[in-house]
Amino acid sequence: MTHEFDLLVIGAGSGGVRCARIAAGHGARVAVVESRHWGGTCVNLGCVPKKLMVQASEYGDMVEDSHAFGWNSTRGTHDWAKLIAAKDQEITRLNGIYVSMLEKAGITLLTGHARFENAHTVRIEPSPLAPTEAPRTVTAKHIVIATGSTPMKPDIPGAEHAITSDEAFHLPARPERVVIVGSGYIGIEFAGIFAGLGSKVDLVYRHELPLRGFDEDMRAAMKEAIHVRGITQHAPASPTQISKNGSTYTVTLNNGHTIETDCVFLATGRRPKIDSLGLETTGVKTAENGRIKVDSKRETSQPGIYAIGDVTDHLNLTPVAIAEGHNLADRLFGKERPRSWSLRTTPKAVFFSPPLASVGLSEAEAAQHGTVDIYFTRFTPMRHTLSGRKDRKTVMKLVVDQDSQKVVGAHILGDDAAEMMQGVAVAVTAELRKVDFDRTVGIHPTSAEELVTMRTRTRETPATR
Ligand code: NDP
Repeated sequence: MTHEFDLLVIGAGSGGVRCARIAAGHGARVAVVESRHWGGTCVNLGCVPKKLMVQASEYGDMVEDSHAFGWNSTRGTHDWAKLIAAKDQEITRLNGIYVSMLEKAGITLLTGHARFENAHTVRIEPSPLAPTEAPRTVTAKHIVIATGSTPMKPDIPGAEHAITSDEAFHLPARPERVVIVGSGYIGIEFAGIFAGLGSKVDLVYRHELPLRGFDEDMRAAMKEAIHVRGITQHAPASPTQISKNGSTYTVTLNNGHTIETDCVFLATGRRPKIDSLGLETTGVKTAENGRIKVDSKRETSQPGIYAIGDVTDHLNLTPVAIAEGHNLADRLFGKERPRSWSLRTTPKAVFFSPPLASVGLSEAEAAQHGTVDIYFTRFTPMRHTLSGRKDRKTVMKLVVDQDSQKVVGAHILGDDAAEMMQGVAVAVTAELRKVDFDRTVGIHPTSAEELVTMRTRTRETPATR
C-alpha cells in the first residue's frame, strides 16, 4: 500500500520537530501536525519562558548586591506586565523560527487536532491553532506520537480554584502572596521566580526534603537555599482543601494548618496528552501510569507507530525528547549509523536561584553498586564575600566508585551550577576517573575550580548491595 507520507509526526514540540527535520534531511516525505502552538511546551509553556522569568527574578538582588561593589543603584519596582509582554514577544519570534525551519526542510505543516482512524490513517480536525480549517485525512507509513504532557492537579476539594504552570505564564498581575504545592522541578523553580520578584511564597511539600529522587545532601542543601531565599516551607505537608473567599484563598493542610493567599499554584506533576488521540483504534498500549509503552527503539506495541518525549515513561526532559526524535529518524530513514546519546548520564538542572545541577548517580544509588568515596565541599562564592550574602553557599559533591575510581556522579548547588555541569557531564559520560579530575588544571578564580581541587576524601560510604 502506498501512503501519502513516509512519516507523520503528531506534535511540533522539541522532540517531534527534531524527528521531522532529520527524517526530511534523509529524503523522507514528512508531515507534522500541530494543534496548539509551534515549538510545544518547551518553547511556549516550559523551559524558555521559565528561564526568562528566572532571569527576571534575579535582577532585584543583583541591584542590591551591586552597592557593595560601589554602585549607587536602587532596587526599584518590578513591572510584571512588561516582563510577560517581552517574554511573549520572544516566544512569538521562536514560533516563527520553528515554522520557517520546518518549511525550509520541505516538511508539510498541518494544523489541527490529530486522531487515529487506524494504524496508518489520521484524521485532522479543527483545533485552537486552526479553528476554521476544513478537516482532512492523511496516511503515513510511520507515525510518531510526540504530543507531550500537560499539568495534573490532585483530586482535592477546591482544586479548580488553583492555577498550574500553564496559567502562571500569563497571570494578569503578580500575586502578592502565593502558595505553591509540590517540590519537583516546577514547584521549586516557580517558588524562586515569585520570591525573587517580591511575592511572599509558601511552599508545601509532602516529604522532609524537597526534590525527591535527587542526592540527599543536595536535597538538604536545596532546603536551606529555599529558606535563605525567604520562602516559607511547610513540610512534610499536603493540601486537603482549597477554599475561595472573595479574591483570596485558604489552603488547608493535613497537619491542621491553614494558609491565606492570593494564588494557589499546583505543581504536582504532569500527565501525557493522549486523551483524544483515538489510540483505541490502534494497538498502542499504555503503562499503568498512563504513559505510552515503548521499546528501546521507541516503537509502541503497534508496529509502525512510535512515541517520543513526555508521552512515554522515559525521563521527561526536552533534550531527551530531542535525542529520541533524532535517533528514531536516523534509524528509520538514515543510511549511516544512527546518532546515539548516553541517556544513562543525562544531566539535569533545577533553575532555582541558586540552581541545582546533577549528572550520574546519587550517593545512595552508587552505593547499590559498591563502596563509594565521597568528596564534598561547601563554600561562599567570591561574589558573596563582598555582597554580604554569606549564607548563599555553593555546595559541590563528587561520587566516586571506590573499586574503579570512576566519577559516577557529580552534583552542584550554586550560582552557574547548570553552566558548570554541562562540561562535567562530558567527563562522567566518558567514565573518567578521579585522577583525571585531579590532573586537570583549574581556572582561577572560579567556583568551578573546586571540582578539580577536591583532593581529600570526605567520607567512605559502604556498599548497600
Ligand atoms: P515532578 O514530578 O517533578 O514533581 C511533582 C511534585 O508534586 C512532587 O513534589 C510530588 O511529590 C508532588 N505531588 C504529586 N502529587 C501530589 C499530591 N497529590 N499532593 C501533594 N503533592 C503531590 O513534577 P513537576 O510538575 O515539577 O514537573 C514535571 C516534569 O517536567 C518533571 O518531572 C520534569 O521531567 C519536567 N521539568 C523539567 C524541568 C527542568 O529540566 N528544569 C523544569 C520543569 C519541568 P512526591 O515527590 O512525593 O511525588
